[in-house]
Amino acid sequence: MRRALLWFKQDLRLDDHPALQAALQADRLLPLYVFDPALLRPSPLGPRRLGVHRARFLLESLAALDAGLRQHGSRLLVVQGHAELVIPTLVEHMNLDEVLTLDEVAPYERAEIRRVRHALGVPLAELQGNGLLREEELPTPLADLPSVFNQFRALLEERLNVFQPRAMTYALPPLPSGAASLMEALPTLSRLGLGEPLGVPATAFPFSGGEPAALARLRDYLWESQGVHQYQDSRNDLIGSEYSSKLSPWLANGSLSPRRVAAELHRLEAQHGRSESTQQLWMELLWREFFRWTLLRYGSALFRADGLKATARAPRNLDERYLRWCNGRTGMPLVDANMRELVMTGWMSSRGRQVVASYLVNDLQQDWRYGAAWFEEHLLDYDPASNWGNWAYLAGVASDPRRARAFNALRQARQYDPDAAYVSLWLPELRGLPVEQRHTPFMLSEPQFAGLDYPRLETIPENWKPYISSAA
Ligand SMILES: Cc1cc2nc3c(=O)[nH]c(=O)nc-3n(C[C@H](O)[C@H](O)[C@H](O)COP(=O)(O)OP(=O)(O)OC[C@H]3O[C@@H](n4cnc5c(N)ncnc54)[C@H](O)[C@@H]3O)c2cc1C
Repeated sequence: MRRALLWFKQDLRLDDHPALQAALQADRLLPLYVFDPALLRPSPLGPRRLGVHRARFLLESLAALDAGLRQHGSRLLVVQGHAELVIPTLVEHMNLDEVLTLDEVAPYERAEIRRVRHALGVPLAELQGNGLLREEELPTPLADLPSVFNQFRALLEERLNVFQPRAMTYALPPLPSGAASLMEALPTLSRLGLGEPLGVPATAFPFSGGEPAALARLRDYLWESQGVHQYQDSRNDLIGSEYSSKLSPWLANGSLSPRRVAAELHRLEAQHGRSESTQQLWMELLWREFFRWTLLRYGSALFRADGLKATARAPRNLDERYLRWCNGRTGMPLVDANMRELVMTGWMSSRGRQVVASYLVNDLQQDWRYGAAWFEEHLLDYDPASNWGNWAYLAGVASDPRRARAFNALRQARQYDPDAAYVSLWLPELRGLPVEQRHTPFMLSEPQFAGLDYPRLETIPENWKPYISSAA
């Protein structure tokens, strides 16, 4: 009789789950998720590691995982506490023989696995399954992987066509005796002290957590609405559900396997041919992969102010400008609109993320790590490798040799929000202005500005001057 515990973490799915497949060999199986309330406390940089939007999404994902497990004859046990205390206690109490889980790339999560392993009296098997490739499939040792994305991509691309995700079609082993009595209802947001997020009609996408919703979105974007065919033209847009795949929240908590996305994309290309759009989406999945291997390789060094660069010197300020940025009150409408969308919905477009991150680092000269920490609390799709990797990359302290990427925020506003529809959506206080003034309220005369309830930008950057007029 082999009794196993399957520890779910950022892999809340049944599809293409190597640890779940390995667990099918057991005679009894206890599927477990440990919710650590420490995530709700302020992190060393201030913001919480888990905010209300992602917590809502997580609880929905756990409910969906439980429903999926039930369909296969099992259930999910959700326990609040520290994994290194909860798991050894359960193993001992239920007389289990082994623990199975998927591996992690981020230092905090890797340290947690190490602590659990250390506290256990039985083996803990870590299988790889949240990336496109396993480490043994890399064409070079991890330490020799290129640190520049284009070289990484060229090296890996061929490899990535070879493997297939594995669907879950089997019945699961029954629960160990006594486990059913431990099952409890999931915690609610209010029990976690978070309160319900407000429904926001302008939200870019009605995200709901869980594997069925993830697979439905994948099916829809690729096969039904076929939004994917417009990806190349629409991916820099700011409004609406179709400008990009919106798959990231499910990829981040593992409700969706990246290999499933890659396999479906390849299947689509086999039927309808490759296009710039399908290739571009593939490239984005490779960016995700790049940041995962980068974080695994460099570990906590990526979280330092100067990141992976001995010679770089990123700004270190942290003052009221940071708080104004967080609250969407900088006086730069495109930045403020994005920051308000983030806090109200947990979402921000890819273009928006680049603009606000550049603005914090280059225009406000603030320490990029605090921006990354704010994103960590608020993003629905927060993922350690993609978040800290993109932030470090924009701040110019990542593994590649480039310096900080500086975006001209007003130029971006003119290019990507030409009729000010996006800033009008999120900044109601500007709706009374003529459209051509909504990106530049800082140019209004004192009497015009007086009734606005919007902060006035103190200094107008020199390089904005050509874009002050919307005709520019
Ligand atoms: C400062 C900053 C912080 C970011 N933080 C995160 C984060 O915490 N979690 C996260 O998933 N993405 C993050 N991104 C990357 C990117 O913005 C999001 O993945 C993307 O906007 C999600 O929307 P989508 O699913 O519609 O993406 P699509 O454009 O449809 O792309 C498909 C998938 O490719 C991956 N992808 C796309 N762009 C990137 C990228 N630049 N880096 C890594 N993977 C990418 C994502 O998994 C995404 O779901 C960040 C980008 C920046 C500039």
